Amino acid sequence: MNILHLVWDVFFPSCCCCCGKTVMYTDYFICDACVSAFPETHAGCAVCGTEQENGECSYCRERHFYPERHFCFFLYEGTLRQSMRALKFDKTAFVARRFASVLRQKMGDVLNEVDMISFVPSSRKKYLERGFNQSYLIASALGAGSGVAVRPLLHETSSGGRQKDMSYDRRFLNTMGRFSIKKGAQVAGLRLLLVDDVFTTGSTLNECARILLQGGAKSVFSLSVARAGLKKLDK
Ligand SMILES: [Zn+2]
Ligand SMILES: [Zn+2]
Repeated sequence: MNILHLVWDVFFPSCCCCCGKTVMYTDYFICDACVSAFPETHAGCAVCGTEQENGECSYCRERHFYPERHFCFFLYEGTLRQSMRALKFDKTAFVARRFASVLRQKMGDVLNEVDMISFVPSSRKKYLERGFNQSYLIASALGAGSGVAVRPLLHETSSGGRQKDMSYDRRFLNTMGRFSIKKGAQVAGLRLLLVDDVFTTGSTLNECARILLQGGAKSVFSLSVARAGLKKLDK
């Protein structure tokens, strides 16, 4: 325990963003009980994680899924949703560190198999509204704790429409050609981990993985903190 953290806790006690209980600095605004209550995803497709019907993945059947494997351990519900909202809307940036420590444990050796971590860029409009990209914060915390470099590799080249108001299929069309590799970014031959906050249709994540592979990346793993149905999205 760092003495500065101890002093900080005495003078500036922080509260769990889900239940309000007093927590220590090193809990990063989520208490252990609320982390334990993150609702877990059910076992699904070995590639994209979608729950299967009759032994077949409807998601991979209907489209090419570019990541070699997608990791997602939680559902966008309960305390996970509450803490993601704290990160996105209350700007409680430290929550990203807590997510990262939970995800690092879940990912295990996978982090040793990647050369670089990157993240799904936020739209310019969202970035201007919020002033930060929560996927970057999570990727950055994940990299800091595992010693893997974190780099911005992609940027939005055309804004497209507002995804929230679009149907499932429309989202896939809307993301085509929206991103490109940043000038000067090197991806050739690299094994990448692409981080996203919430997986809804996966259209943006899939398009980003496609662009990175097209740019010469050796492989792309992807990770989202949680999985949501379209209905569960926050405005
Ligand atoms: Zn709590
Ligand atoms: Zn699948």
